[in-house]
Amino acid sequence: MSSGRVYVIGAGLAGLSAAMHLAELGATITLIEGANQAGGRCRSYFDAALDQVIDNGNHLVLSGNPAVSRYVQKIGATQLLTGPEHARFAFFDTRSGARWTIRPNDGPLAWWILAPKRRVPGTSPRDYLSILNLLIARPDAPVESVISCHGALWENLLAPLLLAALNTDPRTASAGLAAAVLRQTLFKGGRAYCPRIATPHLADAFITPALAHLARQKTRIILGKRVRKLQFEADRVTSLELAGESIALAREDKIVLAVPAWVAADLVPGVCVPDAFRSIINGHFALPAPPNAEPILGVIGGVAEWIFAFSDRLSVTVSGADRLLDEDRDSLARRLWADVARAHGLTCPLPRWQIVKERRATFAATPEQDRRRPGPVTSWRNLVLAGDWVRTGLPATIEGALRSGETAAQLILRGDRA
Ligand SMILES: Cc1cc2nc3c(=O)[nH]c(=O)nc-3n(C[C@H](O)[C@H](O)[C@H](O)COP(=O)(O)OP(=O)(O)OC[C@H]3O[C@@H](n4cnc5c(N)ncnc54)[C@H](O)[C@@H]3O)c2cc1C
Repeated sequence: MSSGRVYVIGAGLAGLSAAMHLAELGATITLIEGANQAGGRCRSYFDAALDQVIDNGNHLVLSGNPAVSRYVQKIGATQLLTGPEHARFAFFDTRSGARWTIRPNDGPLAWWILAPKRRVPGTSPRDYLSILNLLIARPDAPVESVISCHGALWENLLAPLLLAALNTDPRTASAGLAAAVLRQTLFKGGRAYCPRIATPHLADAFITPALAHLARQKTRIILGKRVRKLQFEADRVTSLELAGESIALAREDKIVLAVPAWVAADLVPGVCVPDAFRSIINGHFALPAPPNAEPILGVIGGVAEWIFAFSDRLSVTVSGADRLLDEDRDSLARRLWADVARAHGLTCPLPRWQIVKERRATFAATPEQDRRRPGPVTSWRNLVLAGDWVRTGLPATIEGALRSGETAAQLILRGDRA
């Protein structure tokens, strides 16, 4: 590593991942975050209405996500990602009251689809073969042009799985991104896709220990200061403008810009980034989960899509939720609670609640938006990009954000950007 400081701008997961890799290899780092806390779209905070700490949204990762495993291992948080030993996904249909649990076997040879009690009710093994079409499809085709978006397999497994992973109507989503999700899950065998949840909160598993790790490595961490402008001269960034402060860069200094796509578009002239986003809505209810509640329950046919059970709350996620953004919060809370109460057999009145609307939760995982994703390398020799929206081959996920941070750090350390 040549001398010089690396400025990592943005302390979301991509920025934290980049900073950790750089610090490990002896780089001198300053991490600058515009908000008063790190974590970005993956954060926890105290909510006064509920009188408890909540996450901005329930986040699910998978046992076989390689970058997630590397990251939590490095920061000593592996045990804070909890979930079952074997893959299992429980579902409840609000219309019929039916319940079922999908139980994939551990290995990549998917014999579970031959076992009626393990596969989706109403499906036959042949139905699952159609999924292979996604793997050989043109990546920029929409999913609906490649596989049938009807029937029990689609409605009760593929659609909820892809909607959760892509945060976009899966019919119009990119076949390439859908295939990337399936390659990481159904095609790797159950051992790779056991659900994992940060316990008790996102910050405990992903953010607080990462900041402590970076502090031990002598990283300078600046919170609550937005980078307002980058100054460019010839082929380099020459200074960073913060509120009331300008940081002049030495010739050997470098930057990892790990801000959301829309901020990158403001800071970097001419960069092409995704410009359509999809929201996620979470409803949090201050009621301890009933004993034996499934830790994650998929809901079919309701407003709620996934219910997460915690010791102090029940939390509901709705992905691709733009249609609900303008709905009155009170009405939304009541409709989500009706699904939760039904799914968990609860008769108590609506508990204290909070609705969190993340309008730009992820970029829209459509073929058009996927094409707009830039690589990490820019026209400026000392500037690389990181974030879940950079071209990672994955949808906007924790795994993608962490991988993009790793890639940015490698580019800086290899001196490709020097
Ligand atoms: C509600 C919700 C639910 C989700 N669920 C899941 C899930 O179940 N599984 C999953 O894998 N993924 C999920 N995701 C996606 C996941 O959270 C993101 O992919 C990931 O957190 C993105 O990290 P990032 O570092 O790329 O971006 P961000 O988290 O957006 O980080 C960018 C950082 O840059 C900072 N910043 C912005 N502008 C400036 C500036 N000018 N100067 C300095 N700093 C600046 C921001 O404050 C932020 O901290 C979910 C997202 C949301 C919103």
